[in-house]
Amino acid sequence: MSFLESFNAFDSSVLQSNLTCEDTSRIEDLISSGYPQEGLETFSLLMSPAASGYLEELAQLSSQLTFERHGKIIRLYAPAYMSNECTNTCTYCGFTMENKISRKTLDESEMEAEAKYLNKRGFRQLLLVSGEHQKIVTSEYVAKMVRSVKPYFSSIAIETAPFRQSEYEDLVSEGVDSLTLYQETYDRDVYAQVHLRGKKKNYDYRLEAPSRGAEAKMRKISMGVLLGLAPNWRLDSLNCAFHLDWMMKKYWRVQYSVSLPRLCESETDYKPAADVSDKDIVQLILAWRLAFPDLGINISTREPAFLRDGLIGLGVTHMSAESSTEPGGYCNPESALKQFDITDERNVDDIISIIESRGHEAVWKDWEPCLIG
Ligand code: SF4
Repeated sequence: MSFLESFNAFDSSVLQSNLTCEDTSRIEDLISSGYPQEGLETFSLLMSPAASGYLEELAQLSSQLTFERHGKIIRLYAPAYMSNECTNTCTYCGFTMENKISRKTLDESEMEAEAKYLNKRGFRQLLLVSGEHQKIVTSEYVAKMVRSVKPYFSSIAIETAPFRQSEYEDLVSEGVDSLTLYQETYDRDVYAQVHLRGKKKNYDYRLEAPSRGAEAKMRKISMGVLLGLAPNWRLDSLNCAFHLDWMMKKYWRVQYSVSLPRLCESETDYKPAADVSDKDIVQLILAWRLAFPDLGINISTREPAFLRDGLIGLGVTHMSAESSTEPGGYCNPESALKQFDITDERNVDDIISIIESRGHEAVWKDWEPCLIG
């Protein structure tokens, strides 16, 4: 059975009622039993209003569980934008096709310069990002960029348009080991309202992309929703959890992580459909950790410094640092428009100091392709 079939048959009514649970005794039962039982039931309850009054207790459990499963470490990675060309109209994004902005697509030497810069700063895990342009950012173009950066990194992830399985297989053979792909929202109506033109309108094709990546033998897959795109971000997160849970059972060899990006300022006048507060983000992270103990949790520089610092030890396992969201933005800043403004602008040395001051170790590298022979 494909994920699409499973998702279409998914009856989430009971879990949805948990999202609005106000019965605090159910949360107290979860807490008093030690670590809560893994899975969607726990996840939905821990996102409820009833759980919001127990963040201190949940944080203690989450901190302990994170230490047991992941150690006291934070893995550092950097995004590098290859291109801001895009043939889609997404109402919430600065790269949207209609936006008359300066467009740029890096060539191999520009990409290599970015890679050398990030390598010198210490990074060994790279996330290659691009807009979704059918003719310019093809899988062949991405493969060329991968060849340019490969000597400088032990792990290369891509965040691009969804590709066919055969294209993912080609990219894996070039050295890509990780796929990042957000459904943006699992709400089909909202998805249709915010994706007006281009191939991204095809909800189902995007929904099946993580499965195609897993079939193509991606080692790691990162998923998520853009929080605030749909009015009910809790339900969106629940559907994402259903997707991840399904992937974990079907493709159990893959390592999974979740990202929790909140909609932030871009070059459009899109207003988020929901406010997701800092407290909501904390509660959401605790819910992910306690319901899915082995899951990696990424927190990017979209989030403010004080929040990122406070989340160290609570469940987060991966952090970006010193990020640029424009193509060529490390060596040649302001040459093209950024996708969005980052909020935590501290340099990587500052981030490492904070990580260490909280009793954690910053890890640059945890993987070498030769480990799989
Ligand atoms: S969200 Fe992605 S696909 Fe949509 S306009 Fe932005 S870059 Fe293009």
